Amino acid sequence: MAYSQIDSDGGIDYMFKIVLIGDSGVGKSQLLHRFVKNEFNLKSKSTIGVEFLTKTIVMDHKIVKAQIWDTAGQERYQAITTAYYRGAIGALLAYDITKRRSFDHVEKWLEELRMHADKNIAIMLVGNKSDLTAREVPTEFAKEFAEQQDLFFIETSALNSSNVESAFHGLLSQVYENVIKKHI
Ligand code: GDP
Repeated sequence: MAYSQIDSDGGIDYMFKIVLIGDSGVGKSQLLHRFVKNEFNLKSKSTIGVEFLTKTIVMDHKIVKAQIWDTAGQERYQAITTAYYRGAIGALLAYDITKRRSFDHVEKWLEELRMHADKNIAIMLVGNKSDLTAREVPTEFAKEFAEQQDLFFIETSALNSSNVESAFHGLLSQVYENVIKKHI
């Protein structure tokens, strides 16, 4: 699908609410900052604490504003509010490829989505920190899981920018198709 980024915030055709979910420390905030601002904050410990960032893009000659929500650390206290999910039509569910536990929790996050979000929400499963070598989650393993669960899947590194654009673009394209086909 034709895709480009624009700076204008003028008239928009679509507004997509996207949520970031996944365990604390997997790199959600860094993925968001890399995608929206092309930044990686080396000093950040965990979660920078913004509510959401927006990025305006052109898809299929339409101006789409993606409003991408970050948990701002709520997940540490098991307290993601239902408001966080309200109106979301896409989710980027991240785990850390070097933390098996964060992958084991993906099912819990899927349940949470099923409970609180639209049933046709598009989901991109993202294995982040692919720049690290201490891998605990094999790519094939995650890929197979994603296929079984009908999720899109990609491995990324917010640190070195690998596949971050592809992860968000892939998700936004799917959201766009769902919206066009009125599945959501
Ligand atoms: P969040 O709690 O899921 O929002 O995670 P953060 O974005 O705050 O990141 C948690 C920690 O992981 C921080 O120390 C980041 O610098 C680090 N981090 C995030 N993404 C990457 C990555 O792609 N590679 C590496 N090596 N570290 C990362």
